[in-house]
Amino acid sequence: MVELRAADVISLDLITQLVGFNTVSRNPNRDIIDFIRAYLAGLGVEARIIPGTEEGKVCLLATVGPAGRPGIVLSGHTDVVPVDGEAWSSDPFAAEVRDGRLYGRGCVDMKGFLGIVLAHVPMFLASNLKTPIHLAFSYDEEVGCIGVRPMIEVINRMPVKPALCFVGEPTRMTVMTGHKGKKSMRVTVRGHECHSSLAPTGVNAVEYAAELIAFIKGMARRLERDGARDGAYDIPHSTAHVGRIAGGTALNIVPRDCWFEFEFRVLPADDPEVLFAEVKEYAERTLEPQMKAIDPKTGFSWLEIGAFPGLDTAVDAEVVGLATRFAGNPRTGRVAFGTEGGLFAATAGIPTVICGPGDIDQAHKPDEFITLDEVARGEAFVRAVADFCAREIL
Ligand SMILES: [Zn+2]
Repeated sequence: MVELRAADVISLDLITQLVGFNTVSRNPNRDIIDFIRAYLAGLGVEARIIPGTEEGKVCLLATVGPAGRPGIVLSGHTDVVPVDGEAWSSDPFAAEVRDGRLYGRGCVDMKGFLGIVLAHVPMFLASNLKTPIHLAFSYDEEVGCIGVRPMIEVINRMPVKPALCFVGEPTRMTVMTGHKGKKSMRVTVRGHECHSSLAPTGVNAVEYAAELIAFIKGMARRLERDGARDGAYDIPHSTAHVGRIAGGTALNIVPRDCWFEFEFRVLPADDPEVLFAEVKEYAERTLEPQMKAIDPKTGFSWLEIGAFPGLDTAVDAEVVGLATRFAGNPRTGRVAFGTEGGLFAATAGIPTVICGPGDIDQAHKPDEFITLDEVARGEAFVRAVADFCAREIL
C-alpha cells in the first residue's frame, strides 16, 4: 500500500486544532465547543449549545441542510481520556504527523472523526442537501456516556426526529451494529469495629464485602456457563467484574469500613437491573440480617457510578445498508466497548450504527494515533453521506 502523506487528506488542520484543547473528561469542554461554534458560524451554520449538568460542560447540535426533514446524525464526543502517568514521545495535546500517522490524545478517540466531519461542512453547504446532516457533539462520554443525555432530550423534543445516526467511534470503517450495555456500582459496607481478639462481637466490613464479591463471582461463572450467547462478540456472554476494593486499618482491628466497585456488561438478552437486583437481594436478605443482629447500624449502601444501554441494531436494518454502502465495506460486526449509540437507539428511538476511522487498539494509551490512510477512509465515508444527502430525501 502506498503510504498517504498529509497533503492527501483535508482534515488534518481541524483535527490538530481539536486535539489542542485539553478536554480530558474532568475538564470543562466549553472552549472546544465555542471554537466549533465559531468555525460553523464562519460558514453561516448556526449551532445550538445545550448546557450539561455541570458548569462549563456543553453539547453542540447543528443542522446543515433543510430543516423539517429527518436527516442523518453524525455523532461524536469531545472529551478524551487522561494522559496522567503515560510516557508520550511528543506533546499529547500538540498533534503531529510522523510516518503516515497523526499522533495526539484523541486522534483516534475521537477528534479524528469530529475534525473530518467539520472539514466537510463547506462541502455539505455546496452540495445543496435535500436530506439534512445533523452534527451532535457531546461531552463526558468517557466517564459513562453522561454528556449526550441532555442532547438526546433536546433531540426527543424536535418536531421531526432524525432518521438515522452514525456514531464515529473508531471501527476501522467497519459498520458495527451492536455493543453491550453496562451498569457499574460502588458498594459501601458499614461494619462494627472492635479488637480483633473479640472478632465475633464485631461486624467485619471486609469479610462481608468479600462474601458479596464471591456471590458476584458466582454470577459471573453462571453467565459464562449458562447465560445468553452472541457469537459476534469476542466475549460472547454477559460478564460481571469487581475492579476496586479498599477496607480496614490494621490487622488487629475488626474493620468498620470497606468499599468496592463492580460492573455488569450485558448482552441485550440480559437486563443489568435484574442482575443488580439479585446482588442487592443477597446482601439484604442473607448478609444484612447477620450484620444487624450485632449492630443495627451496619449494612450495605449502593451508589450507581454509571450505566448505559446496549446497542442491538438488526443487520438488515436500513441504517446498516446505508452505512455499509457509505463505508464501501459490506462487513458488519459488534464491538466490545460501549458508546453513545445505545442511548441514541434506546432513548431517542433512532436507528444507529457505529462506524468511524481508526483502530480502537490505539485509543486510551500513550502515543495514540490515527493513520492518514484511516483519515482518508473517514473522509470518503463523510463524502458518501453528503453525496447521498444531496440526491435522496430522508
Ligand atoms: Zn470514544
